[in-house]
Amino acid sequence: MNFALTRFFLHLGFSCEKPRNSRSYGFLLLNAKKRAFSSAAIPLAQKTGEELLVVVGGGAAGVYGAIRAKMVAPHLNVLVIEKGKILSKVKISGGGRCNVTNGQCTENLVLAEHYPRGHRELRGSFFSMHGPTDTITWFSEHGVELKTEDDGRVFPISDSSSSIIDCLLSEAKRKGVLIQTGKVVTSASRDVDGNFQVKIEKRTTNYMENLKADYLLIASGSSRQGYVLATQLGHSIVDPVPSLFTFKIEDSRLAELSGVSFPKVRVKLTLENVQTNIPQLTQVGPMLVTHWGLSGPAILKLSAWGARLLFSLDYEGDLFVDFVPDIKMEDLKSILMKQKHQFTKQKLLNACPLEFGIVKRFWKYVLDREGVDADILWASISNNSLIGIASLLKHCKFRVMGKGQFKDEFVTAGGVPLSEISLSTMESKIQPHLFFAGEVLNVDGVTGGFNFQNAWSGGYIAGTSIGKLALDAKMETEVEHGTEVKHRTTLS
Ligand SMILES: Cc1cc2nc3c(=O)[nH]c(=O)nc-3n(C[C@H](O)[C@H](O)[C@H](O)COP(=O)(O)OP(=O)(O)OC[C@H]3O[C@@H](n4cnc5c(N)ncnc54)[C@H](O)[C@@H]3O)c2cc1C
Repeated sequence: MNFALTRFFLHLGFSCEKPRNSRSYGFLLLNAKKRAFSSAAIPLAQKTGEELLVVVGGGAAGVYGAIRAKMVAPHLNVLVIEKGKILSKVKISGGGRCNVTNGQCTENLVLAEHYPRGHRELRGSFFSMHGPTDTITWFSEHGVELKTEDDGRVFPISDSSSSIIDCLLSEAKRKGVLIQTGKVVTSASRDVDGNFQVKIEKRTTNYMENLKADYLLIASGSSRQGYVLATQLGHSIVDPVPSLFTFKIEDSRLAELSGVSFPKVRVKLTLENVQTNIPQLTQVGPMLVTHWGLSGPAILKLSAWGARLLFSLDYEGDLFVDFVPDIKMEDLKSILMKQKHQFTKQKLLNACPLEFGIVKRFWKYVLDREGVDADILWASISNNSLIGIASLLKHCKFRVMGKGQFKDEFVTAGGVPLSEISLSTMESKIQPHLFFAGEVLNVDGVTGGFNFQNAWSGGYIAGTSIGKLALDAKMETEVEHGTEVKHRTTLS
């Protein structure tokens, strides 16, 4: 426990503030079984009787939301409880570089299209309140310079996620947000006075605390415990399933091409018993061959849009790849015919048409798969074989036999339904003063910085709403207090 928190909890333990009104008790530590600090550590500065916001989860949404709440309402006590390491996903994100947001999508409608779960709901005010431009501005105003790469992904110029973490943590500290790690919020309920009773435990010991909080922000990512808290407070959960995974393809010849990448392919997923032609099940973008199948942005996008269907079909389906999406079938045949006449004395393997932009290893795969001997001369290839090669390049079929292993899953589809919260405040429609932000909600985006953007936007909106409520409550209390003093003065 850091010094600030030692002081914080000690203070909580000794607080004997009286409730100010039915909804606002300040905060009280009801049950701290391990209190090993001396009274000398009781802070002079810790304000008593102010309201408390407990944030469940020290990820992007939780920390950003906590900072924002404290900024709007500096008097509010803000405590972030993190069961593991603070901002641990930020650390590993983007291959350690952290793809903070996306710089190419400034239009809300276009931006929303990048969220397989959430694309309808996020078209509204959500990103207007705090969108990618606001995120970029926020980080640059807090000392982190960002750069936008050609594909729209935004990274810190340091190319290190530590820049983002250092910035968030120093801002949290500067604002007075208290962060406690290694503790789990195991249950949350509402007491008769409308406050949240929050139970906090340590995994390794029998440590247990009960906090009374005025506001609760659940920003627990895809953690099961977060879903449990949401259901304890009356919310439902859309079954969580993985999104953003690679496709397992059983094709030993393809596996030999592991590491080969294609800058632009068109991929189409067809699934059994799925009659409707879902436009998002066709994607264009880079693709990569791995030792177990296919990966890269085009595949990850397909996996995201097909996440629920693929889950229900045990991750089986047919994938059709167009390796030359910018060349029409007729032009492709003409190119092959021209090659046949121009390179008569060259072996097929050594003279792949340059227009295709494919590497020799993949050209060999195509010839093998079409059953054409790679060592014959162009002069001796039949026209039927040329048509077969052209068809293969345009409609190459792969059987998807499963998904990549767990570590490849970047995000979870499912969580608290958006219909149960107000997106303009991130407040629960079921429980007042309960807020959600980030991946705990049934929102997930494709790759490119969209998932963090959901976390920043949700955290910011929730923090703003909580801050405003806390300011209102403070003003109300001050008015009450002022009236009370005046009344007493009159009486005496
Ligand atoms: C390997 C990897 C790379 C990624 N790269 C990118 C990227 O570059 N760009 C991008 O946009 N997205 C990326 N993502 C997705 C992105 O990391 C998540 O969408 C984002 O972290 C969600 O933020 P969050 O705050 O909602 O949840 P999280 O970051 O998951 O934070 C939730 C936190 O809550 C804690 N917690 C949960 N339950 C409790 C509890 N009961 N008590 C206490 N603490 C609790 C968890 O330990 C966790 O630290 C990546 C994901 C992975 C796995």
